[in-house]
Amino acid sequence: MIITVQVDLDGLWVLKKALGTEGDPAEDTLYEIALRRALQFFAKFGITATFFVIGRDLEIGWKRSLLKDVLIKGHEIASHGFSHSYLTHCASRHKTEEIWRSSEIIKRELGVSAQGFRAPGYAVDEETLEVIHEAGFVYDSSVLPTRWLWALSLLQRMRSNEKSAGYTGGNWGNAPNRPYFHMLKQGSLPLLEIPVTVSPIGRLPIHFSYLEKYLSPGIFEFFIKKIATREDFLNFVFHLIDFVDRTEDDRVNRLLCLSRDWKKKCALIENVLTTITKRGRTVATRDAAETIRACNTPCLREETHDVITSR
Ligand SMILES: [Zn+2]
Repeated sequence: MIITVQVDLDGLWVLKKALGTEGDPAEDTLYEIALRRALQFFAKFGITATFFVIGRDLEIGWKRSLLKDVLIKGHEIASHGFSHSYLTHCASRHKTEEIWRSSEIIKRELGVSAQGFRAPGYAVDEETLEVIHEAGFVYDSSVLPTRWLWALSLLQRMRSNEKSAGYTGGNWGNAPNRPYFHMLKQGSLPLLEIPVTVSPIGRLPIHFSYLEKYLSPGIFEFFIKKIATREDFLNFVFHLIDFVDRTEDDRVNRLLCLSRDWKKKCALIENVLTTITKRGRTVATRDAAETIRACNTPCLREETHDVITSR
């Protein structure tokens, strides 16, 4: 099975933004603590991961140094937009600017060309995918192929008592649960989608933030076993907040329903990483993308056709 592990680098200012408060990207204790812990876990389990960076964070010197260290350790840097705006809510010009600016600042400050893109809030539509493709990204990883976003949104609102708690996401409940190609109008090569893996039964999100709230380790292991036989591909996603027990902002803690202490969370991360790495070696998403493109199997093409006709 091909396995990719990804981390969305959403710092404290991004979580505050979700609550309608303006946070300062330079004052971000969550960023440093969580990123260093993530790197320690990945070193322990021999994981090569892909980190989705927000462009604005590269304007901060100490964050740039941390991200250079991520590259030195052999991980991949990909783009999570410039200012964590939900792209499906943006006008075309703003959308284009967010995507291109993120790519340019990664190139300028870190000296690498980002190959992958994840839209904030998993919010992509056809126009966004076109721009991602035009901006030179090789793969997109924004699709979360679940039908349950509305229910999860409601549940989170009820649990946190925060009206702004919510999910964006697109209408991708019927998209494949493994890599496929978006056939776009522009360009000679189709854009490769490496979706966030959901459960093979029920299509529930299984990335860490959900898993820790709603799934037991036993059920997670059962799902991973099924994914290994059915999809032969796993894309597992973390967020920075998964590597701390809480933040210094109580509203953020309530919004994300953070209740587990660090010792227990740490044990759960170890358990999850053991379950995943038992199934095979993890690779950077750009390397998985290259393998998939090289295979060019007919089944992937047929799936593309299904996706196009069903939407
Ligand atoms: Zn994000």
